[in-house]
Amino acid sequence: MIPFCDPTTCPDAGCNPVTCVGAGVPSNTTLFDRSKEAIPGGVNSSIRAFKAVGGEPYVVARASGATITDVEGTTYLDLVQSYGAVILGHAHPAVTAAITDAVGAGTSYGAPTPREMKLAEEISSRMPSCERVRLMNSGTEATSTAIRLARGVTGRDRIVTFAGNFHGATDALLVAGGSGVATLGLPGTAGVPNASVAETMVVPYNVVPQLDDKVAAVIVEPVAANMGVVAPVAGFLEGLRAECDRVGALLIFDEVITGFRLAPGGAQAKYDIRADITCFGKVIGGGLPIGAVGGRRDIMEHLSPLGPVFHAGTLSGNPLATAAGLAALDTLTPDVYIELLARVRHLSSKMRDACASAGFEASFPVVGTLFGIVCGDAASDAVTNFDEAKRTDEAAYSRFFQAMLAEGVALAPGAYEAMFVGLGHTDEVIDRIAEATFRAATTAAA
Ligand SMILES: *Cc1c(COP(=O)(O)O)cnc(C)c1O
Repeated sequence: MIPFCDPTTCPDAGCNPVTCVGAGVPSNTTLFDRSKEAIPGGVNSSIRAFKAVGGEPYVVARASGATITDVEGTTYLDLVQSYGAVILGHAHPAVTAAITDAVGAGTSYGAPTPREMKLAEEISSRMPSCERVRLMNSGTEATSTAIRLARGVTGRDRIVTFAGNFHGATDALLVAGGSGVATLGLPGTAGVPNASVAETMVVPYNVVPQLDDKVAAVIVEPVAANMGVVAPVAGFLEGLRAECDRVGALLIFDEVITGFRLAPGGAQAKYDIRADITCFGKVIGGGLPIGAVGGRRDIMEHLSPLGPVFHAGTLSGNPLATAAGLAALDTLTPDVYIELLARVRHLSSKMRDACASAGFEASFPVVGTLFGIVCGDAASDAVTNFDEAKRTDEAAYSRFFQAMLAEGVALAPGAYEAMFVGLGHTDEVIDRIAEATFRAATTAAA
């Protein structure tokens, strides 16, 4: 056991013995090496290990607005933004104040609270399809609960999912597949038994599948944001709605990313489609752990204690997470979305121009307030599905990623992640990212 800090000898005058790791000024490498001795791979979510892009992660000390600072004191302009969870920017004063205000009153009770009621009301009022909302602790919990609920309501087992969509670490949705043809599921990872995915059908994104009366639900990212950023083609979401209705299957929108980011009413408002069940996470927790399932009242009332579909959670409806989430939603007025839309257009076009001037082949697909990057030859064509998304040049992305990091801009360490712009990304920040993009693209093109 490596000793934690001794405040009497620590060189840092303002040392907090709980967070100090001792041994003078820590480096990313020493801390990450030490983490690897305690945590598998040194990370608590696999993408953070930088396996896809090479190198080692920066270890974060603090963050504010659009910036993130590592333990060595290097500050980056951050386009990760906790994968979209902190839409207001890091340590936004409204969120910090709400958490500070809540924390002294206790951090979890195991009993109902006013804040969870308010957050559920707030979600319902912004998304009319969510007549009832159940809060939980992650997007993964939301998708697994939605699947259980859909199966419980319909009495059917089959789930249809789309290649390249991501729904968290939910067994039934961790399926291999992804080619142009529909496949019945094979496990997408070790540890998922065949039986868990035997009733999961994987079909290509942006093509309405023909369903039958075995299907309990279709689960879809209404804008795909985990294979780059891919828009639904005209008629796709409408077609899913109609096909689900035809066979009596439920339509589940996974709005863990798009919910309260794409528009005040999420993707379902932007595309005017009513989902039966909607999954949330990320934005609704203001950067604290949260998830939620919302939906039609008659469907949601199948959840325990009213109905036979079990759901429970010790920390569900957590006082701090609901305080932070309410503060975030409060700040997200319709004007804010107009502002975010402008910022995303501005930044994506500046990055596009910078890459073009530097001779680095890349395109920046934009869907509302979401944007992604596609590197290489595939860049010239609009990507509509996973097969096309996979044509992105991953090696070129890795070079660009490393060059951006060296220029002080943090992108997600994977070629298929979206870039997240929030209230912290002012015009000045956008200009600085654009300048860094030109220099990084020049390096990556060489
Ligand atoms: C992030 C994400 C999830 C999983 O949410 P966690 O809170 O990480 O469990 C599910 N679906 C989509 C679309 C996501 O982007």
